[in-house]
Amino acid sequence: MTQAMISLQGVTKAYRTDAGPFWALKGIDLQIYPGEFVAVVGKSGSGKSTLINVFTGIDHPTDGEVVVARTQIRQLDEGQMAEWRGQHMGIVFQFFQLLPTLTIVENVMLPMDLCDVYEPGERHARAMHLLEQMELADLADMFPASVSGGDQQRAAIARALANDPPILVADEPTGNLDSKTAEAVFELFESLVAGGKTILMVTHDDELADRVPRVLTLADGLMVSEKLHPSAVAAQKLLGWVPAQAAGAHDAGAQGADAQAAISAVQLVPSVP
Ligand code: ADP
Ligand code: MG
Repeated sequence: MTQAMISLQGVTKAYRTDAGPFWALKGIDLQIYPGEFVAVVGKSGSGKSTLINVFTGIDHPTDGEVVVARTQIRQLDEGQMAEWRGQHMGIVFQFFQLLPTLTIVENVMLPMDLCDVYEPGERHARAMHLLEQMELADLADMFPASVSGGDQQRAAIARALANDPPILVADEPTGNLDSKTAEAVFELFESLVAGGKTILMVTHDDELADRVPRVLTLADGLMVSEKLHPSAVAAQKLLGWVPAQAAGAHDAGAQGADAQAAISAVQLVPSVP
């Protein structure tokens, strides 16, 4: 059975407030498998960002287990966590969060300087290569404030990919972009999934979510529904993924889906002999 890339078991999160604990996550069980493209949707305040924060190790869950790339997150101390995250996950935030005092290319090099995945001598060339992929090479020496929001978001994606992490996590990455730029970012994500990355994207955009093979809906700190594209169901069966709530409910959708197409649709493996 394929090992989950991201696994949450009974994850809860209570924030302390003057009125007592506020339960932002009320018990989340979730498995995300290598090569999946997953969207998380839900109203504002439903717990989407909290969910991202607990499985990226940015925040600690109140209870439950988070295992990512076979590592139990709570066993890492702060220093280990930063390095581990840098190697395994790229994170894209809604408001880009580029450092204003660094140029675009310096922002992209920063994660490489924090984790020793790439040699110091190759970091600038790699950053430029990523910026070229994002069609941003011309802006490499500009400061974030002097480029558009779309360019900043693509720079933030280049930064998230700096250490070539297997997982990309994005919290409303198109939330502040015009529809054309949002489409370009989404297509970039699709191509990254096609290249083998696992992507979890929080989005408010229903049209974009409809194009993602697996869509999870959060409401008041609970996962209330899961929608699987038939190709994702077929691939899950073929590869022995057994998402707890999904296996029975989505059987009908899997029928008729061509197995090979299903696998390539979610890009688990580059090709099947
Ligand atoms: P979403 O990303 O879906 O909009 P969040 O995860 O940011 O939702 O927030 C979930 C709930 O937790 C919201 O009701 C929010 O007000 C509350 N919340 C988030 N962060 C804190 C905090 N640091 N302290 C208290 N309540 C918080
Ligand atoms: Mg949020």
